Amino acid sequence: MDVTRSVASPSDDIKKAAVFEKDALLSAQTMIYDDGEMKKTLPGDVYERFKAALVDGGATSDEDQEAISKALYAWARERGATDYAHWFFPMRGGSGATGGMRVPRVQTLGALKCDAFIDLDWSSDAANKPFKTLFPSGRLLCRNQPVRRLYTGETDGSSFPNGGLRATHTAAAFTSWDRSSPCFVYDKVLRIPCAFVTHYGRAIDDKTPLLRSQDAVAREGLRLLKACGVEKEASTMYAYLGWEQEFFVVSADLYKKRPDLVNAGRTLFGRLLCGNQRVSRLPPRHQSGDLNYFGATPGPVEDLLIAVQTEMMRMGSPMVVRHNEVAPGQHEMSPIFCVANASCDSNVLFMEVCAKESQKRGLAVLFHEKPFAGINGNGKHANWSVGTDTGLNFFYPKTYGDERDTIYTTALACLSHGLLEYNELVRCSVAHAGNDHRLGAQEAPPAIISLYPGTGFEAHVDKLIGGEGELADYKPEKGKADPRCRAAAAVEANVEDRNRTAPFPFCGNRFEFRACGSSQNCALPMTVCNTLMAAGMAKVASLIEGGASQKDAVVETLKAARQVIFTGNGYGEEWPIEAKERGLPNLKTTPEATAAFASEKNVAVFEAMGVYAPDETHARAEVLYENYTNTLSVEIETMVAMAKTGFLPACAKDLALYAAAPSLAGDKAELYGKIKTACADLEETFAAKPADLAAEATYLCDVCKPKMDALRAAVDAAEAEMDAALYPYPTYEALVYGH
Ligand code: ADP
Ligand code: MG
Repeated sequence: MDVTRSVASPSDDIKKAAVFEKDALLSAQTMIYDDGEMKKTLPGDVYERFKAALVDGGATSDEDQEAISKALYAWARERGATDYAHWFFPMRGGSGATGGMRVPRVQTLGALKCDAFIDLDWSSDAANKPFKTLFPSGRLLCRNQPVRRLYTGETDGSSFPNGGLRATHTAAAFTSWDRSSPCFVYDKVLRIPCAFVTHYGRAIDDKTPLLRSQDAVAREGLRLLKACGVEKEASTMYAYLGWEQEFFVVSADLYKKRPDLVNAGRTLFGRLLCGNQRVSRLPPRHQSGDLNYFGATPGPVEDLLIAVQTEMMRMGSPMVVRHNEVAPGQHEMSPIFCVANASCDSNVLFMEVCAKESQKRGLAVLFHEKPFAGINGNGKHANWSVGTDTGLNFFYPKTYGDERDTIYTTALACLSHGLLEYNELVRCSVAHAGNDHRLGAQEAPPAIISLYPGTGFEAHVDKLIGGEGELADYKPEKGKADPRCRAAAAVEANVEDRNRTAPFPFCGNRFEFRACGSSQNCALPMTVCNTLMAAGMAKVASLIEGGASQKDAVVETLKAARQVIFTGNGYGEEWPIEAKERGLPNLKTTPEATAAFASEKNVAVFEAMGVYAPDETHARAEVLYENYTNTLSVEIETMVAMAKTGFLPACAKDLALYAAAPSLAGDKAELYGKIKTACADLEETFAAKPADLAAEATYLCDVCKPKMDALRAAVDAAEAEMDAALYPYPTYEALVYGH
């Protein structure tokens, strides 16, 4: 594949790639109503107008809506669909979206309400009209006014988090089809990806701001190109996302026996009693890496992953990569990248498909950032790029031999500016309770947000700032990685080396935002990346429009943002100290980060880029807090319950075992007594939490979390001493080595 080309949706070639011939995929009906299917099923002129509207945002006429609804209905019915559903993405928080069911949880980052393809026969003059199957028009009896159900829907649902944008007495909300994310049929339901807004058009979802941020990229990107006089044929720009999703697969039976997994999505107690953790006390990132990383996937899990791959393929997301991850029981899958909003949707779908397919097989998939202490947690890397509809990728340093060669350095100036100015926003976009266990914990990037463009580019920037060279001088040579033996050929290496300690490294034709939480929707991180890029492009464009040369505008911008470029070791002890000197924020926890979300500067940039209105920014901050306090509260209550009803009784039984041989009991009574004390301490501390949302979040983080750690430490110490048969829940060994 030519990496400079944009892929809006998988081409027929990819769908038919030989790799998928191994199973029924080739004969499988495609379940996605993508560009190809639209072309086949729509009248030519309707199709052309639909495509044009995707670029200019124009409305679709009543007649065209009718034609598209009809074609889509027939297409979906052929694929066995009995219902349709507007599928939307409420602000379910930063995420860590957790637990709550006795069966392995189906991730519900998306929301839907299924409506049957049945409507009344409005042509009948009977008082009780007969019904028939069709795409309901939603024609209102009194006004006889048809409302196209494909395009818009109304839903209550005042229970969704809304940050004060909606109350039970002002509860109306509407769904509106995101025409740039294709509809598909899953489990007999035609899913229609939608934006979700209030009566007043305020975004109460993750998708609407993302779509607006993509519009900002298109608007400011074209403005920049115009100012630079480059790529005049471009008519729009896209932001692309290719995600890499990590997860654990465990036995569903064992999962159900762990109240912490069921309620909180992660284990709140437990430790690996054997394995190299105990022997060598290596830091987590070394855990079992040599044994599991890219090892063979166990049979039942392999079957699951292939089933997921097959389902996803049918619904338009070729999950081309699957492999074992670092920790035992841990795996990763990723699709081919596509336009960011559609890619976010496919990630949410992927999590749902994993949950459903695992349920069928007696397995459970854990997407939490840190399901197990002491071994690696789950990350989600968001590979992101922006480019024109003509195929000019702003993040691909290709040599064209013309003025396009200046775009890479120009784009990186915009990105550096955005990352520095709106640094806290980037951190906030991945801030939630689950991710607090990972960021900065030496297995994931630090909580400090910097840009890694490679050492070659860093040198180029320093030369430019020093007054030497031209924008187009960055013509990176690909080196050769040579195995130096007869059998294996030299490999063309990358333009720049990889830096896995960086939160935002360059990856050849994209940047990889590595700090996303595994359980979260990529939409907020993508919204922020697009916003800051758009703001950077606006800044450079405005300098040029104000009379500066392109070079002067870029060099001035790079100079001002130089401190955000860092090519060293992000895991190093010196980095936080240096970062502080550079003035880069280090927001270690979710409450700290969230406090910075709705700052004056951030409210202003969201408004200027048309992404969030000021009240929407404040609402989003409130939802981040709310999600955090909910998550922590559930965790604390679950811990207390498990200690009281599981661990303390087990300790009592264990002590009773030793009643006849007290000399063997050692200091067990004292050890177990610590559980009681720590549990009471946590319970009392939690009960004293303040009412104000921000204060509550900070209190839970600073005051309650250490008490949670103390209770866990007491229980985990007891686990090492207790009769194994008495440990009341499935152990780590059973969970991670169980299948
Ligand atoms: P790695 O493990 O080397 O980081 P993977 O192949 O697992 O790489 O994942 C890389 C992801 O990046 C894939 O989803 C891929 O489609 C995506 N990707 C590749 N090029 C781009 C691009 N220009 N923009 C966005 N995503 C991209
Ligand atoms: Mg990667």
